[in-house]
Amino acid sequence: MLTYPEAVRIVLETLRPLPAVEVDLADALGQVLAAPACARWDLPPADNSAMDGYAFRCCGQATGSRLRMAGFLPAGAYRDQPIAEGEAIKIMTGAPLPDGCDTVVPIEDVDIVGDEIVFRLPPEPGQHVRIRGGEFRSGDLLLPAGTPVLSGETGLLAAAGIERVSIHPAPRVALLSTGDELVELGETPGPGQIVNSNFHLLSARLREEGCTLIPLGIARDTAGELDEKITRGLQADLLITTGGVSVGDRDLVQETLKQHDFKLGFWKVAIKPGKPVLFGLAGETPVFGLPGNPAASAATFELFVRPALRRLCGHADPLPARLRATLAQPVSGGGNRQSFLWGELQEKDGRYFFTPSNRQSSGQNRSIQGSQALLPVAVGSPDLSAGEEIEVLLLRLPPGRTCPGAGCH
Ligand code: AMP
Ligand code: MG
Repeated sequence: MLTYPEAVRIVLETLRPLPAVEVDLADALGQVLAAPACARWDLPPADNSAMDGYAFRCCGQATGSRLRMAGFLPAGAYRDQPIAEGEAIKIMTGAPLPDGCDTVVPIEDVDIVGDEIVFRLPPEPGQHVRIRGGEFRSGDLLLPAGTPVLSGETGLLAAAGIERVSIHPAPRVALLSTGDELVELGETPGPGQIVNSNFHLLSARLREEGCTLIPLGIARDTAGELDEKITRGLQADLLITTGGVSVGDRDLVQETLKQHDFKLGFWKVAIKPGKPVLFGLAGETPVFGLPGNPAASAATFELFVRPALRRLCGHADPLPARLRATLAQPVSGGGNRQSFLWGELQEKDGRYFFTPSNRQSSGQNRSIQGSQALLPVAVGSPDLSAGEEIEVLLLRLPPGRTCPGAGCH
């Protein structure tokens, strides 16, 4: 059976970022640049003042030197007449320096006597002047392709006059729950029935990643119903199914996919939970068949689907972020599959502590709620003691720490 690293490598090697689209800068937030972004102009566009003060030409002024005040220049104004020798102009931060000036003295470093300024200190030539193009020049590469556009990038691109950017769009993801026992939230489950909770967990995860969701509802475990919904789902950029991928008599997802030019990437990975996970391409559309058990579908989402989404969005490093932490409670050693334990992260004095959930069964919903990380436990690993240094896969930041935008990456 494939190991997790082998299986996730197949996913990442199979998928390519979605074709680039051009969007308004404001709509690029959280997406990854598909093309380099270059400045449209110099910034600052002209030499300008970095202080509220007086602009003049520096020529050896000393403490007590005087210059005659020759007008006022607020930010947004422009003066085309030069400032003569022996003169200074009152200038506000951001106003372009007139000809004849190369230096600014701050308001607080001069005294005013009549219509003259008197230096309290000798000025340094060029002080408090922001040089034209000092931040960037027209044509400069500001952000290479592959850069995620967050708030800081948005500000930089706006300053450089970039109104439209080329990005890899977030995928449209079709989500199909399978199972004769499922009813939708709002319906009262009858005997043998449960609510389709996987849909709600996974659709929330997809929204966190900025995906457009195509909900396909519930397919009963019949070839006809599965085929109809899978056919619709294959119009999306990615199809996720839950349930029906194990070895039960009613596990028909893989059989149905075979009617749709299905090229198997893998079925079954040596992990716990989530062993029956299925991945492949139906035609050109990637498909994940996640196991139905809630903690198994959530874990395989984190281990395989989220990296796949990040790959489709063009992220250079799509795998889950790893975080060093201290184990707060002992953990039993590994079995014959790599296990992934849900758990809580706490931060104390800059150190992270990981407490495994005491509900690790794949059938449980409660292990996922309140978990911020997964602890991988290697096949055959010895028991781990409290206090050991470990590495966890970070899913989200601990409570009280806010996530920057979608996801935690
Ligand atoms: P399966 O993978 O179809 O064999 O389902 C395994 C277990 O997960 C069963 O106990 C199902 O009832 C449960 N299950 C399957 N789909 C869902 C779902 N959408 N929401 C909650 N539980 C589910
Ligand atoms: Mg089922």
